[in-house]
Amino acid sequence: MDTLLSKHWHHLSADEVEGLLESNATKGLDIFELEHRHAHFGPNRLTPQKGKGPLELFFLQFHQPLIYILLAAALITFLLQEWVDSGVIFGVVLVNAIVGFIQESKALKAIEALAQSMEGSATVVRAGKKTVIPSSDVVPGDLVLMQSGDKVPADLRLVHSRELQIDESTLTGESVPVQKRTEELVQETVLADRHNMAYSSTLVTHGTGAGLVVATGDSTEIGHINALISSAEILATPLTRKITQFSGVLLWIILVLAGLTILAGWMHGGSLLETFMAAVALAVGAIPEGLPAAMTIMLAIGVGKMARRNAIIRRMPAVETLGSTTVICSDKTGTLTQNQMTVKEVCAGGGCYEFAGTGYAPEGDISLSDSVIDVEAHGVLTECLRAGLMCNDSRLIHNENTWGIEGDPTEAALVSAALKAGLTLESSEQEYPRVDTLPFESEHHYMATLHQTAAEANGIIYMKGSVESIVSRCQDALNSNGDRTPLDTNLIDQQVEEMAIRGLRVLAFARKIPNAPTSSVDHADVSEGLTFLGLQAMMDPPRQEAISSVNTCQQAGVRVKMITGDHVVTAASIAHQIGLDGTTKDNLDDFAISGHALTQLTDQNLVDAAGKIAVFARVTPEQKLRLVEALQAQGHVVAMTGDGVNDAPALKQADIGVAMGMGGTEVAKEAADMVLTDDNFSTIEAAVEEGRAVFDNLVKFITWTLPTNVGEGLVILLAVFLGVALPITPVQILWINMTTAVLLGLMLAFEDKEPGIMTRPPRRPETPVITQELAIRIGVVSLMLVTGAFGLFEWVLSQGQSLEIARTVAMNMFVFGELFYLFNCRSLHYSMFQLGLFSNRWLILGVTVMTGLQILMTYVPTMNLLFGTAPIGLIEWGLILGGGLAIYTVVGTEKWLRRRAHNT
Ligand code: ADP
Ligand code: MG
Repeated sequence: MDTLLSKHWHHLSADEVEGLLESNATKGLDIFELEHRHAHFGPNRLTPQKGKGPLELFFLQFHQPLIYILLAAALITFLLQEWVDSGVIFGVVLVNAIVGFIQESKALKAIEALAQSMEGSATVVRAGKKTVIPSSDVVPGDLVLMQSGDKVPADLRLVHSRELQIDESTLTGESVPVQKRTEELVQETVLADRHNMAYSSTLVTHGTGAGLVVATGDSTEIGHINALISSAEILATPLTRKITQFSGVLLWIILVLAGLTILAGWMHGGSLLETFMAAVALAVGAIPEGLPAAMTIMLAIGVGKMARRNAIIRRMPAVETLGSTTVICSDKTGTLTQNQMTVKEVCAGGGCYEFAGTGYAPEGDISLSDSVIDVEAHGVLTECLRAGLMCNDSRLIHNENTWGIEGDPTEAALVSAALKAGLTLESSEQEYPRVDTLPFESEHHYMATLHQTAAEANGIIYMKGSVESIVSRCQDALNSNGDRTPLDTNLIDQQVEEMAIRGLRVLAFARKIPNAPTSSVDHADVSEGLTFLGLQAMMDPPRQEAISSVNTCQQAGVRVKMITGDHVVTAASIAHQIGLDGTTKDNLDDFAISGHALTQLTDQNLVDAAGKIAVFARVTPEQKLRLVEALQAQGHVVAMTGDGVNDAPALKQADIGVAMGMGGTEVAKEAADMVLTDDNFSTIEAAVEEGRAVFDNLVKFITWTLPTNVGEGLVILLAVFLGVALPITPVQILWINMTTAVLLGLMLAFEDKEPGIMTRPPRRPETPVITQELAIRIGVVSLMLVTGAFGLFEWVLSQGQSLEIARTVAMNMFVFGELFYLFNCRSLHYSMFQLGLFSNRWLILGVTVMTGLQILMTYVPTMNLLFGTAPIGLIEWGLILGGGLAIYTVVGTEKWLRRRAHNT
């Protein structure tokens, strides 16, 4: 059954499909059938396509301009029959490629693993029961239910569609969503026009639908074109791109300098061999071989740290951008608040009732004017609570002594409130079986359900939603006797205001008796003529950790703005409780605005207002997009959260689109740069902090590594132009560059975050990576290295010692100069004493191993032979360490002076 007709499912009727798949379009698969199908078809997963084979990845390591130079150098030395030099250069290129290869594969694996951990879930009907399963468990024949925001888990033949629209751009490239139906199509219909099919990994943007699985895993259409994005793309960030550009420029500079070296050597009357070796030494010295690999590793370490703090990075540039975020626009419900809803007050039939109790436990008295009431006598209250119970898709789950929920917390609170009044789900479901549903969507702000009932021949529609959306559709209300009376909107507004000002989330309830018997409910059916039943107000306390995180962000110069679909007064009250900058207890007009008022603003007004306003209420997804654009027009780097289908454009536009991992739709996750696995605001703050740390580390590494390259290059140039022997040979230079990058430089990645990382303002994206301050520091250290190495070299020679000894001293000067300078680079601002001398164990280990290696290099005969070194005396060691200490002291003093000037 799996292959025969696989191309023509669209050409079969739903009944035929049902028969062929031996499934059922209402009940789904039989439980006994599952095991057999699991075994036969395997997991519903795409076999990762080898985007780049290991071999290709390995050879790509050589495909860098700077490595070309090294290869050329190796070839030239080979032709010159300098076997050791040639061998070592080849060796270094190889080691470099291997290290790069291992790191890149590791980084890729880590990122793939993250992507896999994000595997979605699917809603299926099996043996008549609706269950949520991991997408990988879906088998052919399964009946899959879909609603807007879902990702289609497998290829489906649709059997039900209600305004179902699917974005198939992943498959067809066409970004306009396709309207789906269920009728049979002619056999020739091309993929893009198969309106009765839904394809794996496409996104449901609207409506609901159901379909039978006809293909899973690699047999799906997406499986046929399964192609991973190229690995280089995945790992690139703006900074790594800048560095790639920089190496392109460096290549030409080095070539020109090498040319000049040969020219100068020739004018000094040096031999061909000597001048070429000098040019080679210059090239290998000036090239920061370790830089690209180090960057990748540091970024990967950052991504790992963020993941451990519940922030999954989906696009690498986000790691860097996070560090310069200046505004975070956050959802209120569930992100800044606990999403732990409890109904506190219900207003119905003119009176307002207090509900006791906390959490979802359906226990607590109901009282009116401070005396406990008997609910039976309050018919309108009961009807309002019934509307909340019936127009509801959530459930309470009782486990020993705790009450949990399944579904939307807002709805679960309504269930709990109804149970407190003695209503029960079972009896209500029997008395009022549900016939149809209009699900809640954040653009409509309401939900409606149609029920059969013995009391009404035409059935009854229950509806709930935001006060504005419900009240505007009502023509009358129920009074305390249960009779219809005119609607008193003034009283309702007053009640809403009074509850919202305490931060309560208010929902309105209504009902309607259809004019004629019907089996479906549409938006048009509930556009008018409803009867108002009452209001229910629920408490959703702020998250404690959000309060401190908001505070931290504001201290770090990151503005926090609340974006919510909730009422403006409720939102303003919560914002004040959380402590958003600019909020006050009253005068909310100064800092809060509703979506309606927002539409009145011109783009320019919005740009002006966007900076000042802290709370945006009743906001639609399109307004979120406008808001992001307005903030960006002010020069902000914007992080924006989102969970719904319609949030995707705003998430894409934001510099950091943040999706909710638990409550968010698949559509939002696909559009996001980062996904929060705990939906918590504090996680955004943590990610910003990690982002700053990663960037710090990258800058520290660059600041540390560049003086070596500049210094080595200058030493060679100087020697050539003065017409003296080279103080260090190409192989020695390569040794220095490779060992110090790994043993010293990389250890900076394990440095703790800088003190005060979240009290300084965000990095402005337009500031250069190497600021003027750092450029001066790099220049000074380079010059000190040159002076030290060149000076010691000439001094040793003048003492009548051998060239080998002089070179060994110069080489050690470079290594120990870098080693001392490394301690300066542990922080760009603070001294190592402020950081704690031993707080970075890795660094201590690296320094120890490096020192050991230098001793071997200096005293072991084989090493002497290979690298042209020779044992040196104590006085020389003294001078070398003195030079290192001088570098540390000079940079340390410079940092100290700057700290004093900045008063930190
Ligand atoms: P937010 O999550 O920011 O509070 P939503 O878009 O989820 O915003 O909700 C907006 C408004 O819609 C809420 O203030 C509430 O009045 C109403 N609402 C929320 N959830 C539901 C629901 N399940 N059914 C009906 N109305 C709802
Ligand atoms: Mg919500």
